[in-house]
Amino acid sequence: MAEAIELRNITKRFSGQTVVDSVDLDVDAGSVTVILGPSGSGKSTLLRCINHLEKLDAGTIRIGGELVGYEQKGQALFEVSDSKIARQRSRIGMVFQQFNLFPHRTVLQNIIDAPIRVKKQPRAQAVAKARLLLQQVGLSGREDDWPQQLSGGQQQRVAIARALAMDPEVMLFDEPTSALDPELVGEVLQVIKALAHSGITMVIVTHEIGFAREVADNIVFMEAGKVIASGPARQVLENNANARVSHFLSTVL
Ligand code: ADP
Ligand code: MG
Repeated sequence: MAEAIELRNITKRFSGQTVVDSVDLDVDAGSVTVILGPSGSGKSTLLRCINHLEKLDAGTIRIGGELVGYEQKGQALFEVSDSKIARQRSRIGMVFQQFNLFPHRTVLQNIIDAPIRVKKQPRAQAVAKARLLLQQVGLSGREDDWPQQLSGGQQQRVAIARALAMDPEVMLFDEPTSALDPELVGEVLQVIKALAHSGITMVIVTHEIGFAREVADNIVFMEAGKVIASGPARQVLENNANARVSHFLSTVL
C-alpha cells in the first residue's frame, strides 16, 4: 500500500540559504508523526512544502501515492495548474499557530467556505457537516459567533473543524498551541488527541513533549534543515545516544 505521505529529497532555499535540506520522510496511513526541533530548523517550511504553500527547489511529495504540485511525463516533472494544485491541496488540512480564521466571517461561514467554494458542496450539506464538526470540537451552538468573540483555544478548535470540513486525508499542525495562554492549551491538545485516535494521518510540529510522548507513533527531529534523528517515538525520545536530541529535550522539558 502507498504511504499516506512520502517525501523524497525535499529541499527549499530562501535567497540562497538552504532551510530544508534533502529531507526524506514516510508517514504510514493513520499514523501520527511529531516533528521536533529548535526554532529556525525548518519545521514550518517543511510543513508548508507538503501543502505546496512553498515551491520546492528539489524533491517530490506524494500523498496517497499521487504527486503533489507536479506531474511526471517520462523522467521529467512539470508543475500542474493552479486549479489542480487547489484540488490536491484540499486533500491536506492545515492548522496554523495563529489560527488564521477569516475575521469578518462567523464561525459557521469560516467552516463552510471551502467545502462550498472548492468542493462545490450544496450549502445545506456543508452546514450539516459543520454542525457535526463543531460538536466534535466541543463548540456546539457557537455557529454565529465572530472569531474575536472566542478565546484563542476556541478559535483554534474552529480552525481544526474548518480543516476537517474538507475531509482531508492528511492533517498538518504547525505549533497549534504555541500562541495560546497556558490554561487554553489542554482543550486544544484534547481535540487533537481525539483525532489521532480517529485514524486520520497527522503530522504535528509541537514543543509539547508530554503530548508528543502520548500521541506520536513516530518522531522526526530536525536541526538546520536536516532530519538528524527519526523513528518510533519512544526510541527517539529516549535516544540518549544522540547528544543534540537529548540537549534539545532538556531545554523544553
Ligand atoms: P521553524 O518552523 O523550525 O522555526 P522555519 O521553517 O520557520 O523554522 O524557518 C527556517 C528558516 O527559514 C529560518 O531561518 C527562517 O528565517 C527562514 N525562512 C522561513 N520562511 C522564510 C521566507 N518566507 N523567506 C525567507 N526566509 C524564510
Ligand atoms: Mg515554525
